Amino acid sequence: MDAGGGVLTFPFPDPPPAGRVLEVAPGVLWLRLPLPMKLNHVNVFLLDDAEGWTIVDTGMHSRRMETVWAEVLAGPLAGKPVARIVLTHHHPDHVGMAGWLTRETGAKIWATRTAWLFARMLTLDGHPRPTAAAVAFYTAAGMAPDLLEARRAARPMNFCDSVYPIPLGFHRLQEGMEIAIGGRLWRVHIGHGHAPEHATLWADDVVLVGDQILPGISSNLGVYPTEPEADTVGDWLESCLRLQAHAQPGQLALPGHNTPFRGIATRLDQLIDNHHTALTRLLDALRVPRTAADCFEPLYRRRIGSGEYGLALAEAVGHLNHLHQAGKIARTRREDGAWLWSRN
Ligand SMILES: [Zn+2]
Ligand SMILES: [Zn+2]
Repeated sequence: MDAGGGVLTFPFPDPPPAGRVLEVAPGVLWLRLPLPMKLNHVNVFLLDDAEGWTIVDTGMHSRRMETVWAEVLAGPLAGKPVARIVLTHHHPDHVGMAGWLTRETGAKIWATRTAWLFARMLTLDGHPRPTAAAVAFYTAAGMAPDLLEARRAARPMNFCDSVYPIPLGFHRLQEGMEIAIGGRLWRVHIGHGHAPEHATLWADDVVLVGDQILPGISSNLGVYPTEPEADTVGDWLESCLRLQAHAQPGQLALPGHNTPFRGIATRLDQLIDNHHTALTRLLDALRVPRTAADCFEPLYRRRIGSGEYGLALAEAVGHLNHLHQAGKIARTRREDGAWLWSRN
């Protein structure tokens, strides 16, 4: 086990140019795809095997991404079929092109049951305006009235707007299973908190960590109207401690965002510490009752712009739910429907 306490190293600081691949370990290619948001890219990894390629995560769906993937299939992946499409978790930047790729290549989706169910359920659940449940969730979180009014009147960010339809039928990934690909044996370990049932795949020298363990940024631990009382922070902390046991010195981590790194145990230590420190600051700030939307300053210690407001609010609810379910804070309904949280 990697004891942590070391330093992180980044052996591939420069991502491959758009549409090109970079070999980061024997038979493991890194492809970077653009995203139309503040976090402007997602990493995809391509595993070479005699029987065909394994594509790990797929980017968001758009016409432009169809062109990019058509070029990748006809370029670096030409000459061999695609054997499988592995999805680490159900977020649109990871599953967006999976349905299109299955249509183009005939490959099956491999995912955890929850990731597949969430992805398929959410693609079938488009709405022209936010649902009553979503409005109630934002109201309870204390979203600023002008923002809430603007959201009520606009088409929400529908999952199906950035995810190609997910086909029926998938191959289930579950804790402890082993998959032989390209001369490596990959063992599946499941994490939670960033997304329910997030798969990570561990080989001796390389680990596909998805968004469970990110360098440079911390995984968003957002709570959404699908499960308003979720303790995402508790789920994530439990996962980090459990995954620590699998980290080996020298393993190259291949994350969903930013660049590959070494030092998985060290990174887990840093992330766990940062969340505990943020929870302490938040608990301290709750000597004065606050809504979730009032908690940005103690939690993030920086200004939150409009482009990240939704994610910041979702994560603030995650931290509050955690303190609440640990018995450290209480909540009361304000007259306008927002929860006011305060230290016990
Ligand atoms: Zn994600
Ligand atoms: Zn992601």
